[in-house]
Amino acid sequence: MTETNERLDAVFAHIEANRDDFVTRVMDYVRHPSISAHDIGIREVAALLVNHLEGLGFEAEAVATRNHPMVLGKRIVSPDKPTVLLYGHYDVQPPDPLELWESPPFEPTIRNGRIYARGIGDNKGQHFAQLLAIESHLAVHGELPCNVIFLLEGEEEIGSPHIAEFVREHADRLDADLVVTSDGPLHESGAPVVTFGVRGVAGFELRARTASRDVHSGNFGGVVPNPLWTLVHLLATMKSPEGEITIAGLTEPVIPATNSEREAVSRLPLDLDAVKADLGLTKLDEPRERGYYDRLMFHPTLTINGLHGGYAGPGMKTVLPCEAFVKCDIRLVEPLTPDYVFEKVAAHVAEHAPDVEFVPLNGMLPSKTPMDSPFVPHIRRAVLAARGVEPLMYPTVGGSLPDYVFTKILGKPAFVIPYANADEANHAPNENLEIVRFIDGIRTGAALLQELSA
Ligand SMILES: [Zn+2]
Repeated sequence: MTETNERLDAVFAHIEANRDDFVTRVMDYVRHPSISAHDIGIREVAALLVNHLEGLGFEAEAVATRNHPMVLGKRIVSPDKPTVLLYGHYDVQPPDPLELWESPPFEPTIRNGRIYARGIGDNKGQHFAQLLAIESHLAVHGELPCNVIFLLEGEEEIGSPHIAEFVREHADRLDADLVVTSDGPLHESGAPVVTFGVRGVAGFELRARTASRDVHSGNFGGVVPNPLWTLVHLLATMKSPEGEITIAGLTEPVIPATNSEREAVSRLPLDLDAVKADLGLTKLDEPRERGYYDRLMFHPTLTINGLHGGYAGPGMKTVLPCEAFVKCDIRLVEPLTPDYVFEKVAAHVAEHAPDVEFVPLNGMLPSKTPMDSPFVPHIRRAVLAARGVEPLMYPTVGGSLPDYVFTKILGKPAFVIPYANADEANHAPNENLEIVRFIDGIRTGAALLQELSA
């Protein structure tokens, strides 16, 4: 333990001594655009990263996929040491609308202790912090405390269309003991966060058609069935006014929260009045008694994204439409899968409204790493050493990310340990990273490598 502390203190001192140089270098890195949606600069930045990793003694390669390459690097210290797979993405969002940037997106600028540039928070600044953590260990001790595999994706901002295929195909090169992703924001107070899972998602559309054309609601009303009513009645059978999903069997397999998850949730800060004020709400969705984090972490949802048909323009139009559509999404918690919920929704529609067409859209599996994973005490100690406070532990977050490729395809525990400030403005103009968060990120990355070797 003392040896761990001494080794780590020396690395922290190196980081402090090189602070200005590290800031200059991350600014040089984000100066290179790598916009996946427009295929700008992707291969150049992938090549730059391969070079960088090789400079750190990694065996590195830009591995081709059906679109943008994955940067894969590996440095094995000893087969007896644990191996951590560090995941990040080197592509960035398009910078539009350009006129709202106070300084150009690819000319990084420091203002008020923050670096402003596209990609500085999401995600180049964060994985560059990991690279600098590795560099600092090597500079001080000449070797890394554990084995490291680096995986940097070039298509995260366009929905990671090839990562599952890539991970399946190259599973042997990704054989690690755990996966750590540094992406997304810290808690808004700046408190460190460790996230263990994400919800999945399954989208679908329902289409109702009746007459061969729209008709007059007076001449044919009462004769021709109304497809909007068909959908409204059908939807009413899918979720109760009390907020429970009533699609037969859909929620049956849901695994209730474990004791350690409940305990972690009870420690999470929550200012419900501030949330309500921010959103202009007087009450939360049904069911009324359900806790805020319970809603987001432990229950599936059924959301109507849009209901379309007929006339909704200005004034009145007495039309009886001939077709209507609704789009919905279901957020999935373990062990629900898109295929399972599609099957249940299809059966429900066939029973309640056999004339309605069910069209499954895209889906993504949920992912969850158990909170009693043996790596948790090490991660906790690493964050404490780097930040001086215990991290907030999120069993799951409400959104969907392809973490399942690590937990389900590779079968490894996966943790998200973000480094960016909560107001990083990712995907928006004036994306930024607080310099102190960037340095904290390097310290956290360094502490993690050291603690994992213990
Ligand atoms: Zn993003």
